[in-house]
Amino acid sequence: KKIIETINISKTYRMGEELVQALKSISIIVNKGEYVAFMGPSGSGKSTLMNIIGCLDSPTTGTYILNGKDVSDMTENELAEVRNKEIGFVFQTFNLLPRASCLDNVALPLIYAGYNKSDRTEMAFQALKNVGLADRVGHKPNELSGGQRQRVAIARALVNNPSIILADEPTGNLDSKTSHGIMELFHELHQKGNTIIMVTHEDDIAHYAHRVVRLRDGLVESDTLNPNPTRGK
Ligand code: ADP
Ligand code: ADP
Repeated sequence: KKIIETINISKTYRMGEELVQALKSISIIVNKGEYVAFMGPSGSGKSTLMNIIGCLDSPTTGTYILNGKDVSDMTENELAEVRNKEIGFVFQTFNLLPRASCLDNVALPLIYAGYNKSDRTEMAFQALKNVGLADRVGHKPNELSGGQRQRVAIARALVNNPSIILADEPTGNLDSKTSHGIMELFHELHQKGNTIIMVTHEDDIAHYAHRVVRLRDGLVESDTLNPNPTRGK
């Protein structure tokens, strides 16, 4: 069942007088429960495509259908709801609030979603437990290692039980061992039925995905299934 479908989407940025065509014509279908890696050289359009898929940005031309709905028909409120409830974003730069505890960082999206305080605490604790950080709930981000911070960011992305996880270089700042730990976590999320799309430039990280889409100059260069993906433990 299709969850994401882009039909001939393009994206043009204006830089002063100059136009930059970041995406030329991208048509991709992702089914529910797929685990996809986007690869490609710097500047090939990966982040632009992720932003469009995450409804953070809209295409210049073409159609994006999410869960059967044309995103261009959605109101601002509907878009905010989709971003808040259906999509979990994992950014490379962690984006955690430095002065807030892990628990409060993870609970933040739940405030926007309208949960009361005791539900927020319970859900945030559960999400931290799921990423192996039950003993770090009261710590602040700067009291954690890079890998632990990334797991806090993942807990925050997942706390609302989003069906789609979008991760832009989720292991980008991490050492190899920590990176593979994060990939174990993604493997479990995939097993649970989540749809995962991640951007990575590392072959061994992409190898966890079941499908690899390569972009080049704003076009899909190749789209292949991985016959033997790396599994978690
Ligand atoms: P990637 O993630 O593969 O490195 P991007 O999607 O970030 O690629 O960028 C694709 C192209 O679009 C690049 O040429 C980049 O310079 C340009 N671009 C990206 N964002 C902007 C922007 N906000 N304004 C102007 N040009 C941009
Ligand atoms: P570990 O103990 O897991 O190795 P470190 O704190 O040494 O964790 O960080 C690992 C990597 O993650 C380092 O390359 C560091 O630059 C990067 N990193 C750590 N914290 C952040 C952050 N808040 N934003 C971006 N990169 C970070």
